[in-house]
Amino acid sequence: MSVRIAIAGGNGRMGRTLIDLIQGNEELSLAAVTLAQNENVPEPAPVSAELYTHEIDVALSEADVLIDFTTPATIVVHAQACARAGVKWVVGTTGLDASEQAAVTAAAGEVAICQAANFSTGVNLMLRLVELATRASEGETDLEVIEAHHRHKVDAPSGTALAIGKAMAIGRDIDLDEHAVMSREGITGARVDGSIGFSTIRGGDIVGDHTAMFVSDGERLEITHRAGTRLAFARGACRAAAWLSEKPAGLYDMQDVLQLRD
Ligand code: NAD
Repeated sequence: MSVRIAIAGGNGRMGRTLIDLIQGNEELSLAAVTLAQNENVPEPAPVSAELYTHEIDVALSEADVLIDFTTPATIVVHAQACARAGVKWVVGTTGLDASEQAAVTAAAGEVAICQAANFSTGVNLMLRLVELATRASEGETDLEVIEAHHRHKVDAPSGTALAIGKAMAIGRDIDLDEHAVMSREGITGARVDGSIGFSTIRGGDIVGDHTAMFVSDGERLEITHRAGTRLAFARGACRAAAWLSEKPAGLYDMQDVLQLRD
């Protein structure tokens, strides 16, 4: 039997990609699509207009898993609704603050949740490679993360850039918050030893580029991932939804889905 999926944010860029993808997926079936209160069912609708609702509880009553690419402001309501309904949750929305993240963690006590800053298989392989490369690199190697996204993106650095920084911090056994340099401007002074630097580019329709840079005197290693379309994220989110349907309550990520843990 197929896993019944509710998509939150059906009029968004990711929501529309997911609707298209799930229609051709044998493991998953589309049970409901939610819209923000100020949105209408699109015309023409890509699926039956009856699947659309403004009420998250109505959507969850038909679903096994909610796939959520919306806004941080929606997260607390969705966390409580999933926990109440016993519906599993794929969380792709990024830019959560501490209280929104705490709501996700609390809901994971009740239902299985897969949360990832980036659902593409390539990026998750990259995170693993970055951790390995950091472990193998010499202590004086400078670590930098560069990311580029479309002009509409509202958070920076991207959740994926932060995840790359975190993989570096794990590889070096340090705390990212204590070592991150999020931007540089003016007379910054020399580079702080042991820091992890971030640079952000915004423009046009770039779907998402990330480079992890390992720079030492005399050589430079760069690991780069470029997403060509949103399909890479949508495919990963669908894979996570199918995987979650078998899992007990807990907070998982794509490293778990792809079995990339040690
Ligand atoms: P978008 O702005 O195109 O879509 C978001 C949609 O959610 C909008 O249509 C908005 O109206 C809708 N929405 C807001 N509140 C809602 C509510 N209460 N109920 C239902 N719908 C609601 O944005 P996007 O490019 O699709 O990205 C969405 C989020 O996903 C962002 O946080 C983005 O950073 C993140 N994202 C994550 C990944 C990943 O792999 N984890 C990939 C792409 C985007």
